[in-house]
Amino acid sequence: MKIALVTGGSRGIGRAIVLKLAEMNYHVLINFLSGEEAARETLAMVQQMGGTGELMPFDVSAQQSIENALELWYNNNPEKYIEVLINNAGIRKDALLMWMKNEEWNDVMNTNINSIFFITRRLIKDMLINKYGRVVNVVSLSGIKGLPGQVNYSAAKAGVIGMTKALAQEVGKKNVTVNAVAPGYIKTDMTKDLDENMLKAMIPVGRFGTAAEVAEVVGFLASDKASYITGEIISVNGGIYT
Ligand code: NDP
Repeated sequence: MKIALVTGGSRGIGRAIVLKLAEMNYHVLINFLSGEEAARETLAMVQQMGGTGELMPFDVSAQQSIENALELWYNNNPEKYIEVLINNAGIRKDALLMWMKNEEWNDVMNTNINSIFFITRRLIKDMLINKYGRVVNVVSLSGIKGLPGQVNYSAAKAGVIGMTKALAQEVGKKNVTVNAVAPGYIKTDMTKDLDENMLKAMIPVGRFGTAAEVAEVVGFLASDKASYITGEIISVNGGIYT
């Protein structure tokens, strides 16, 4: 049984990625923070497709919570390893820098970048030992071009882009690839406060994207078909020039 972990897999882009990986015959570990109902719904969708998965609640913004959950899983599954890791969980706490509170900076850093350090450090070990692995980080247009009101979010996502490129060079020889997908404006809970009618004027394709459109690219990068692609950042943004 091949195993994949999707952080923030309960809804939005993460849910679409869970479904894509289930379709690729992965047993999917569905991480979330507090939205258990949505996570259960996602698992039910996986099972309806004839796939398998399990819920793995932990707080990606807290090192101890990550380490406890992963050690518990490894202890219960000593013969197995997680060969695909999708670092997708993320939050926005927008404010102009001048007014940004410490908490808005720290929460976004802990959830969107520090999390990836702690989770990937643990999982990469087994990928290297087994000489196969795929890491896909979900970053953002904001981390490539910077967006006003998102100094915290842009910094975190740009940092993850740097991590992606550096780690890819560390682990390439062991058949482990590390890539990132940078969505533009995608219809999920995270963007429900944004006005699509106003923003679509600057999107060449003329609309917000769907979570499934992001998941297709993540699925490809997570597959063995993408074996010669590593350290890449692929935009899925309807043609916004970056
Ligand atoms: P949603 O807000 O729809 O979903 C966020 C997911 O992350 C939920 O499953 C949520 O679980 C989980 N999550 C949040 N905080 C934590 C935490 N501390 N620990 C564990 N899980 C957590 O977001 P999207 O699907 O829109 O975004 C997914 C990724 O895509 C993010 O990294 C985001 O930055 C990125 N992105 C999104 C874009 C968009 O337009 N939507 C554009 C560019 C990038 P729970 O419900 O339990 O809190």
